[in-house]
Amino acid sequence: MMRKLAAFVSLLLLSSSSLRAQLNVYYLNVGQGDATYIELPNGHNVLIDGGPSAAPMEKFLKDKNVTTIDHVVLTHPHSDHYRGLKKVFAMVDVKNFYDSRAENVEAIGDNNLRELADAEPSCKTHYPEAGNNLNWDSRVTVKVLNTCSEPVQLKYNDDVNNCSIVLRFFYNGTGLLFTGDAEASIENAMMRIFKSGLQSYALKVGHHGSRYSSTDKFLERVAPKVAIMSVGVNNVYGHPHKEALDRVRAAGARIFFTTGGTQTLTIPAPRKGVEPVLAGPVPYDPSAPVLPAVQAVIYIPEVEAPMNVNGEALKQLVEQAP
Ligand SMILES: [Zn+2]
Repeated sequence: MMRKLAAFVSLLLLSSSSLRAQLNVYYLNVGQGDATYIELPNGHNVLIDGGPSAAPMEKFLKDKNVTTIDHVVLTHPHSDHYRGLKKVFAMVDVKNFYDSRAENVEAIGDNNLRELADAEPSCKTHYPEAGNNLNWDSRVTVKVLNTCSEPVQLKYNDDVNNCSIVLRFFYNGTGLLFTGDAEASIENAMMRIFKSGLQSYALKVGHHGSRYSSTDKFLERVAPKVAIMSVGVNNVYGHPHKEALDRVRAAGARIFFTTGGTQTLTIPAPRKGVEPVLAGPVPYDPSAPVLPAVQAVIYIPEVEAPMNVNGEALKQLVEQAP
């Protein structure tokens, strides 16, 4: 009897640990904005941005019965990334908050969020620097590739975008890149600094598929097999821009939109086969008569991405990175 019980318990332990040894990513459908939820192999969880509003975040956390989040990241202080995070702080216990020191002088809500984080019992705020490794799971490398960790006051959208905390996860031979809304000048700098350290199976496409991100050279370096674009249906920005779509497609990646629903990516445990598993909406098919739930893919003749709009984000990256 005891032996049977012991065998049963060890089987349970084995199955729960092998379940946990996979890494799950949920690219949430939050409308026009960004939110990505990650379950690490050690059972800890991560949320990168919270989308533009409370409702989708609330539904997701309720459906998944999430009561605690170990690591919440605000990539940069724009409302399509921080508004939903207010709900998150109201709903669940947050243990660690990762922020930049970019101050968006045009926004007030970002500092409300920062006050919420300060007021959260036992939540610690961190300001990581480019080049830092975040010790979230001993089996997963999580590296900061960009941020503004030095205080900076910013007025223009491009400058705020360029302060985005950029993270690369690496687990079981598979890279995952989250570039926030960083634009071409930061992409170029990261290429110079991190070289092959950018290569990633799955790319969360920068700035919702804006033409000012995702340059050919950057995509060549990242070499994504899968590209996820987080956009809202008929958004006022015309995201994703056709130029960015064309470049990502030319790079050989399968493109997925969050408009069709939350996209899930699973990296299996080592020795269970290394091929990641995708589940969710179907990939974008350019030959389809109607694009999946993105009705307004606009085309404007090629525009050069603005380089060095303000040197501050670039300066901080170059100074901090190894
Ligand atoms: Zn955004």
